[in-house]
Amino acid sequence: MSDILYMVLPCYNEEEVLPETAKQLKEKYESLISQDIISKLSRIVFVNDGSKDSTWNIIQDLHQQDKIFSGVNLSRNRGHQNALLAGLMTVKECADMVISMDADLQDDIGVIDAMVEEYYKGNDIVYGARSKRDTDTFFKRFTAESFYKLTNALGGEVVFNHADCRLMSQRALEGLEKYKEVNLFLRGIVPMIGYPSTIVTYERNERFAGESKYPLKKMLSFAMEGITSLSVKPIRFVTTGGILVSLISVVMMIYTLVRYFAGATVQGWSSILISVWLIGGIQMIALGVIGEYIGKIYMEAKERPRYIVESFLNKKE
Ligand code: UDP
Ligand code: MG
Repeated sequence: MSDILYMVLPCYNEEEVLPETAKQLKEKYESLISQDIISKLSRIVFVNDGSKDSTWNIIQDLHQQDKIFSGVNLSRNRGHQNALLAGLMTVKECADMVISMDADLQDDIGVIDAMVEEYYKGNDIVYGARSKRDTDTFFKRFTAESFYKLTNALGGEVVFNHADCRLMSQRALEGLEKYKEVNLFLRGIVPMIGYPSTIVTYERNERFAGESKYPLKKMLSFAMEGITSLSVKPIRFVTTGGILVSLISVVMMIYTLVRYFAGATVQGWSSILISVWLIGGIQMIALGVIGEYIGKIYMEAKERPRYIVESFLNKKE
């Protein structure tokens, strides 16, 4: 008996891409099922993340027409990471393995075969990583790759060029369930779970319809979210910076005294003004960094639900 594969695809205003995505994935599933690589009970699950267009209607229709399609409807828009988590947690009990992917099929669906193969070899987590980024603009590639390098340098563990296209076994998902943080950065949390894992590479394409829901501003705040939820090193930098500035101030004090006793203290307007601005700036940055973490503590302390599932359409038989 082959294992059950569920796929989870978060969708926010994806009416333009859904029919095509459904068609391509269904073909892929039929071929995998006919080769007995995955079970007949395998499903393709679309998570509607509070879309404003007809996305949920399309998902309901797909589910009506073919039991291979399932749907999770969230009570409102919660963002990609929460929608993905909602999908994973909702299907966890039904599946032996779950692959997550974006609904726009920018990730090559050929990677599914490779992931399932690695799963059968005994891997609980299979990371899909992009082999190259030549469909990206120079700017996107530069910022994205700097992000991975910076996060790793700060002590967060992220797989280079891996986003949220991955396979997880049921027990890996049970591990993930134990991470309760509301500041959700899945690609940083998953490597912490442990279990045997491996990486497969694929090529990422352009969106075939619709537009990206990740403009630069969202991308930057997502990167910030990632770094601050994985590492407290930025706070340590503040401390180190503080010590450094204090040491410099001792040198400055000696220098000032020497100048004073030498009787040459009339000047000094520029040096005072410069240091006032400089130290003021450093202090504000430091407060900002600390505030960033306090904000996170505040969010975590409230323990608000990360998502609310309104309905789950799934035919198990
Ligand atoms: N998405 C979502 N909720 C949101 C924003 C995006 O579920 O609030 C989904 C979206 O439908 C897509 C995936 O997240 O399946 C990735 O979004 P997108 O393709 O816009 O990002 P990009 O590929 O440009 O980084
Ligand atoms: Mg996309």
